Amino acid sequence: METKLVKVDTENPEKSVLTEAAEILKNGGLVAFPTETVYGLGANGLDEKACKRIYEAKGRPSDNPLILTIGDLDGLYKIVGKVTENAKKIIDAFWPGPITLVLPKADCVPETVTGGLDTVAVRYPSNKIARELIKIAGIPVAAPSANSSGKPSPTRASHVEFDLNGKIEMIIDGGAADWGLGSTILDVSEDKPVLLRPGAVTQDMIEDVVGEIDVDPAVYSKPDGNIVPKAPGMKYKHYSPSAKVILVSGSMENVISTINEKISTDEKNGLRVGVMATTQTKDRYIGGEVLVVGDRTKPETIGANLFKILRKFDFIGVD
Ligand code: AMP
Ligand code: MG
Repeated sequence: METKLVKVDTENPEKSVLTEAAEILKNGGLVAFPTETVYGLGANGLDEKACKRIYEAKGRPSDNPLILTIGDLDGLYKIVGKVTENAKKIIDAFWPGPITLVLPKADCVPETVTGGLDTVAVRYPSNKIARELIKIAGIPVAAPSANSSGKPSPTRASHVEFDLNGKIEMIIDGGAADWGLGSTILDVSEDKPVLLRPGAVTQDMIEDVVGEIDVDPAVYSKPDGNIVPKAPGMKYKHYSPSAKVILVSGSMENVISTINEKISTDEKNGLRVGVMATTQTKDRYIGGEVLVVGDRTKPETIGANLFKILRKFDFIGVD
């Protein structure tokens, strides 16, 4: 299959392109499009066959459910069985925006979408291209991240092209995804909300609106097989480049010296080492391929570039 790559204006997305993309979706095809978090891989969320193609294209395990995106609030009531009081408060505060809500599903939502669960994850994106596309299509659009399963999420159209070229009908290039990280996932299907995946909308921001929430124990623990995450996708290896990744944490000075020791032993052993640095540390490393991910005083710059830099290291070919 030939994948059509089309650039659109981010502020005023060309209607003709969105209409063509909407037709593809309605006919069971796959279209990747930008959102404010990462690029999504869209399919008609009520069409089992189209949704199955998402799993095939991504190589995604079939028990890892998809997120349904909507283009306006009316769309929500068609796909959920119930909108809880806490859901309403979160919607008022943060939608459209980068938070996904898990709610009891309506009968029309196929099992392929929910991975057999009786809940469905829904998001109303704020990105103009995404919203207008979904509105024109007039259907809920299943849209997980548009990457090969397990790889870092795509924050540029070129990332989608690298992973999915030849497997999907169309990629809409709307520039860089602003936020650059996946949406927050909050389960509001029961009385007390549960945070399933951290993201742009933080726990503090949520608690300001609905009071104390629970946090799924899997969120801040290493996957060890004992704790089963409530968001099925969290149990699989994810955001992972081909190169081995080592996270060094601690004070800035300790981090720099530890990384420098690692660079020197690894380079002696003939390995190519990538260093993900910040503007504050970039000149302090004694070797390696140093790439700047962002500014330590502006965490949002780090979020926006994290996946891009992981992909760049693979592209350069570091070990
Ligand atoms: P992605 O869109 O690729 O970031 O993946 C969607 C995430 O939402 C995955 O981690 C899924 O496991 C999670 N998810 C989707 N539907 C549900 C649901 N009904 N309950 C809990 N987690 C869900
Ligand atoms: Mg994903």
